[in-house]
Amino acid sequence: MASEYFSSSRSDWCALCKCFVQPHGNAKRMHERSEKHKKNVERKLKDIRHKEANEKKESDKLQKEMAEIEAKAAEAYAADLAAAARAREQEANAKRELETAIERELHAREEAEYRATQVLGAWKFDERSKYYWHAKSSCYFDPKTKMYFNNGTKVKLCRLRQLLRRQLTGSKCRLRSKP
Ligand SMILES: [Zn+2]
Repeated sequence: MASEYFSSSRSDWCALCKCFVQPHGNAKRMHERSEKHKKNVERKLKDIRHKEANEKKESDKLQKEMAEIEAKAAEAYAADLAAAARAREQEANAKRELETAIERELHAREEAEYRATQVLGAWKFDERSKYYWHAKSSCYFDPKTKMYFNNGTKVKLCRLRQLLRRQLTGSKCRLRSKP
């Protein structure tokens, strides 16, 4: 521990023992061999080791804290990604549901239109006979006399209603039997 000394004109200072030592070799060796100096050297070494251990502990603690912060950040990032994926999936599901609903509605309208034409048929004006022709019930309607005809036979309005009603029930049965 020679570095613990500094020389002045009269004597050397031992910083460990906080005392002056005579600057000649014999006195210095005597001091270095003394119990007091040896104990102080030991204590100094112990202090250094203790300080190093504390520093390591602090550094380990800091590293652990950093690792925890990083882990939490990674966790939050993963959660954000998952939330974004869920939101995208929900959006896609909602879009699919809307598309399905539109598809169903269009189909229902088509079906309703189809049923209406099946039940009522369509009256078409025939230019030659000047009668309306109802293909579904094979009926003619004369707008002048307001009379209905069926296969050349005059039918009354109630008869046509009967025909239409029969078609209506028949049509309903057909639709009900559909899967
Ligand atoms: Zn000393």
